[in-house]
Amino acid sequence: MSTETTKEQRGFESEVRQLLDLVINSLYSNREIFLRELVSNASDAADKLRFAALSDDALYEGDGDLAVDIDFSEELGTITVRDNGIGMSREEVIANLGTIAKSGTREFFSHLSGDAQKDSQLIGQFGVGFYAAFIVADKVTVTTRKAGLTQDEGVRWESDGKGEYTVETVRRKKRGTEIVLTLKEDAKEFANGWRLREICKRYSDHVSIPIRMPAEGGDKDEDKGREVVNQAQAMWTRPKAELSDDDYREFYKHVSHDFSDPLTWVHTKVEGKLEYTSLLYIPSQAPFDLWDRDSSHGVKLYVQRVFIMDGAEELLPRYLRFVRGVIDTNDLPLNVSREILQRNKALDSIRGASVKKVLGLIESLAAGEDYARFWKAFGRVLKEGVIEDFANRERIAKLLRFASTREPEAGAVVSLDDYVARMQDGQEAIYYITGDSLQTVRNSPHLEVFRARDIEVLLLDEPVDEWLVTHLTEYGEKPLKSVVDAELEAPAAADDAEQPSADSGVLERIKAALAERVADVRASRRLTDSPACLVSGGEQMSANLERLLRAAGQDVPETKRILELNLGHPLVRLLEDVADEDRFGNWAALLYEQSILAEGGKLDDPAGFVRRMNDMVQQLAAQGA
Ligand code: ADP
Repeated sequence: MSTETTKEQRGFESEVRQLLDLVINSLYSNREIFLRELVSNASDAADKLRFAALSDDALYEGDGDLAVDIDFSEELGTITVRDNGIGMSREEVIANLGTIAKSGTREFFSHLSGDAQKDSQLIGQFGVGFYAAFIVADKVTVTTRKAGLTQDEGVRWESDGKGEYTVETVRRKKRGTEIVLTLKEDAKEFANGWRLREICKRYSDHVSIPIRMPAEGGDKDEDKGREVVNQAQAMWTRPKAELSDDDYREFYKHVSHDFSDPLTWVHTKVEGKLEYTSLLYIPSQAPFDLWDRDSSHGVKLYVQRVFIMDGAEELLPRYLRFVRGVIDTNDLPLNVSREILQRNKALDSIRGASVKKVLGLIESLAAGEDYARFWKAFGRVLKEGVIEDFANRERIAKLLRFASTREPEAGAVVSLDDYVARMQDGQEAIYYITGDSLQTVRNSPHLEVFRARDIEVLLLDEPVDEWLVTHLTEYGEKPLKSVVDAELEAPAAADDAEQPSADSGVLERIKAALAERVADVRASRRLTDSPACLVSGGEQMSANLERLLRAAGQDVPETKRILELNLGHPLVRLLEDVADEDRFGNWAALLYEQSILAEGGKLDDPAGFVRRMNDMVQQLAAQGA
C-alpha cells in the first residue's frame, strides 16, 4: 500500500457487497430507518468518547457537550449527520466501513435465499447499521477524526455503494464523524426539515444526547439558531408513566440493532441500599449470532449514565444472552474494570436480581400465547440455564417445553408440570428419549411398551438435551429416566406373564455370535413390534451422546451395549431353527445392525449390512417365505 496520505481506492469485502445489495433491495419500503441507524451510531460514538474520557479528560479537547447535528440542503439534495463522539482512525474506517467484523457473517449470508421478501426478514436479525445510508443515498461521504489524534489525521471515506470506496487522509479540525448523504433522485424528499424532524421524533426520541437541527419555529431551546428535536434524556431514567409502548419499542431497536419489535420488556428502578435502573427486553426473534459464544451485543452496562461496556457476562449469565437492554447503576466506580466487575458485591446483587426479573418476565410470557414464539426462538438457550444456574434450576425447569408422544401435532409441546399432572396411576418416573431428530425418536422401538401402556414419553431431539438430562435428574420429586436405560424397570403391566418364554439357547448363541460387539444379549420387556433394540447401562454414555461427541471431533471409545430381543417376534423365533452357524451369525448381525439404524445410528459397514440382508431375503424367498 502507498503512503497513508494518498487517496486509495479499495474494494468492499464480498460480504459487504452482498449486504449492500440486500439492504437496498429489501429495505426499500422502510427507507426512513437510515436516519435511525446513523443517529444510533452517533450516539454510540458519544458513549464511547465519554467512556474513554474517564481515564483521559483531554480527549474532550475542550468540547464536552456531546450532540448530533442534522443538516440538509434541498437544493443540493443532501443530508448531513455530524457527531462529536469518538471518531475513527484510518484503520478503523477501513475495518468498520469496508468489512463486516461480526463473526458468523459468512454463515449468515449462506442462509440467504436471494428472495428479497424472505431475506428482508433475515436482515432484521443481522442489523445493517451504517450501510443503511445507501438505501437513500447514491453517494456517501464520511469525514472523521478520532479523539486524541492530531488534526492531520482526519480521514475521508467515500463510496457510491457499488463495490468500491476511496479513503484518504485529510486535515480535520473537529473530532468526531460527519456523514454526508447525496440523496438518490427518488429519495430527495428526505432533504426536508419537517420530514427529518418527524423521523427523529419517531425513531430517535430516546437517544440520550441532543439531536439538533436548524431552528424552525424558534419556540424551543434555541442555541444559535438551532433547536433540539428529541427528548435528549437517557430513556431508562424517565418515569415509566411518561413512556409509551412505542417509546420502549424504539429504544429497543436502538440498543439491540434489531429491526423487529421486542416480545416484552421490564423496566425496574431500585432505590435504597443499592441503586440501579434496568430496562431489559426479550426479542421476538433470535439474532443471527445467538449460537456464537463470543457474540457481544447483550445488556449494556452504564455507571451513572456513562456507558461502560456491552454484553458482559458479569451482568447476566450466558443462558440469558438473548436478553437486550441496559443496566445503569450508581453503585459502581466510574473507572470500573473487568477485574473489578468479576468480584463486585453490588454487581453480584444486581445480576442476581436481574436474572430473577428476566425469569419472571419469561414466566409471564409462559402464561400467554406468545410463549410458543419465545420457546421456538430461545428455548434451546434457556435449557443451558438448567445446566449452568443451579440456584434457579427448578424455576427454569418449569419453563421448559418438550415434544412428547402425547403431542402428535408438529410443534406441539408439553411442560414438565403438565406431564406430571397427567402421569398414569402408579407411574414413578418422567420418561424421556434422546436422539438426533424428532422423527427418529418418535419412531424408536424403545417406545413400544410405553405406547402399548399409554405412558407418555418426552421426545428430546436437541444436542443440549443430553446435557440437560444429566443435570435435571428429577423434577417435582419424580426422577427423569431414559427409556434406553438398561436398568429401567419397564412399566409394570398385568400381561407381563404372557411374554413368551425364551429358548435361552438362542440368547446364548446370539451372544456368542456378537461377542465382539455387545456386552450382553437378553430378553426384552420393552418391545412389542420390533425384534430388537440396544440399551445402555445406567453409567454408560447414551449412544446419542457418543454420536454427538464424535461429530464434535472428540475421540470417544466405542462402548458395548446390551442387545435386547423380542422373543415373541417371528424373526427371532426363526432363529431357533437355524442350525448353520454362518447363517445364524448373519441373522444375529442383522438384528444388531437394524437396532443401530432404528435409533438413528450409523453402521461401520453399511454395504455389509445390505449384502447380508439381501442374502437372507433371497434365502427366505427360495424357501417360499
Ligand atoms: P454496528 O453499529 O452494528 O457495529 P455499523 O455498520 O453501523 O455496525 O457500524 C460499524 C462500526 O463503525 C461501528 O461499530 C463503529 O465502530 C463504527 N462507526 C459507525 N458510525 C460511527 C460514528 N458515527 N462514529 C464513530 N464510529 C462509527
